[in-house]
Amino acid sequence: MKFDTRAIHGRQPPDPLTGAVNVPVYLSTTFAQESPGRSKGYVYGRTGNPTRASLEGALAELEGGATGLAFSSGLGALVTLLEKFGSGSRILAIDDVYGGTWRLLDHHRRRFGLRVEFLDMTRREPLERALEGGSADLVYLESPTNPLLKIADIRTLSRIAHRAGALVAVDNTFATPALQRPIELGADIVLHSTTKYLGGHSDVLGGALILRNEALGREVAWLQNSVGAVPSPFDCFLILRGIHSLGARMRAHEASARAVAEVLARARKVRRVFYPGLASHPQHRLARRQMDGFGGMVSFELAGAGAAGRFARALRIFTLAESLGGVESLADHPASMTHASVPRALRRAGGVSDGLVRLSCGIEDPADLADDVRRALARV
Ligand SMILES: *Cc1c(COP(=O)(O)O)cnc(C)c1O
Repeated sequence: MKFDTRAIHGRQPPDPLTGAVNVPVYLSTTFAQESPGRSKGYVYGRTGNPTRASLEGALAELEGGATGLAFSSGLGALVTLLEKFGSGSRILAIDDVYGGTWRLLDHHRRRFGLRVEFLDMTRREPLERALEGGSADLVYLESPTNPLLKIADIRTLSRIAHRAGALVAVDNTFATPALQRPIELGADIVLHSTTKYLGGHSDVLGGALILRNEALGREVAWLQNSVGAVPSPFDCFLILRGIHSLGARMRAHEASARAVAEVLARARKVRRVFYPGLASHPQHRLARRQMDGFGGMVSFELAGAGAAGRFARALRIFTLAESLGGVESLADHPASMTHASVPRALRRAGGVSDGLVRLSCGIEDPADLADDVRRALARV
C-alpha cells in the first residue's frame, strides 16, 4: 500500500469491540488484572495505553521501524534517548540543529559529562576524521536542518557511522515520513517533534522515537516508562488525527513553499534563500535523491535584525510565532526566537545571522502567501 493509504489504515483497524473507526480516547490510568501479574496487555497509563499504542503503531508503520514510542514533546523524546548514553559517551551531532536540541545536548555535556561535538555533516570527511580520532556512540542528524535547511546524506553517513560502531539518529521533523524515511536509508533511530507536521494544527505538543529493531525498541520502551515523559491519551488522539491527512498536507505545504521560495529567489533585498527545492541549493541533487519532496520550510537572509523586524511586522497572512508545521503560515526570527538559547557567536559562526528569517509555509492559497511575502519585502 502507498503512503497516503497507510497513513489512514496502517495498523489502525476499527475498534474490535464497538467498530469505532477511530481509536477511542482511553482516559483510564489503570487496568484491571485477571490475577496478579496477568493483564490484558495494559497495566498502568505511563507504561502503556490503548490510544497511545494506536499512535505508536502508526508511527512505526510510516517510518518503517520495528517500534514506535510516543512522548509528551520532541524534547521529551530526546531527553529519554539521551538516558541511554552514560557519562563519557561521545555524540557527534550535525552543526545546525533546533535551538532546544542544542541547549539540551549542551546541558548534558556540561552537567553529565556527555562528550558532544558539532560537525559539518553536509560532507562526509568531517565525520570520517572525527571517527578516526576515536569511536562514537551516536551520530545525531537533522535533515533538512533547522533553520538552514542543510541536507545530510543519511545513507552515506549511516554507513560510515556503523563501520565505527555508532548508532545513527535522525530528527525527521522537517521532512516527515511522507517525504523521507531515514530507517530505509540506514538510520537506527528516528526522532520527531510531532508538535509540528504530524500533529499539523498547532494544537498539541508531542514527540516520538521510532526504532529500527526490536531489541533497541525494548530498551527505549523501558526508558520511556522509567523516565515518564509520556503524552496524554487525548494528545495521542489528536496527533493520530493529524497523521491521517499528512500526505495531502505535505503536498500543499510544498506548493506554498515553492511559490514563496520563487518570490524570495528573485528579490533584490534577499541575500540568500535556503530551500532544498531550488536548483541553487548546494545539496539540491542529494535532496532529490533522498526525499520524495522538499517540504514546507523556507529560510532566507535579509541585511540584518532591523530588516528582519520590518519584514515580520509587514506580514499579514504569516503570523510571527514560534513553531512550524501547522496549517497556518508562521514566520520566525531564529536569532531572537527559536535559536536564542544558542550563544550569538556560535549561532553566527554556524550561519544563523541576525537577518535570517524562517518561514513555515502553511496550506493557505500559495498565491496569497507569495503576495504576502512580496508585499512585506517591499516594506523592508
Ligand atoms: C520543535 C522541534 C524540536 C523540539 O520539539 P518540541 O515538541 O518542541 O519539544 C526538535 N526538533 C526539531 C527539528 C524541532 O523543530
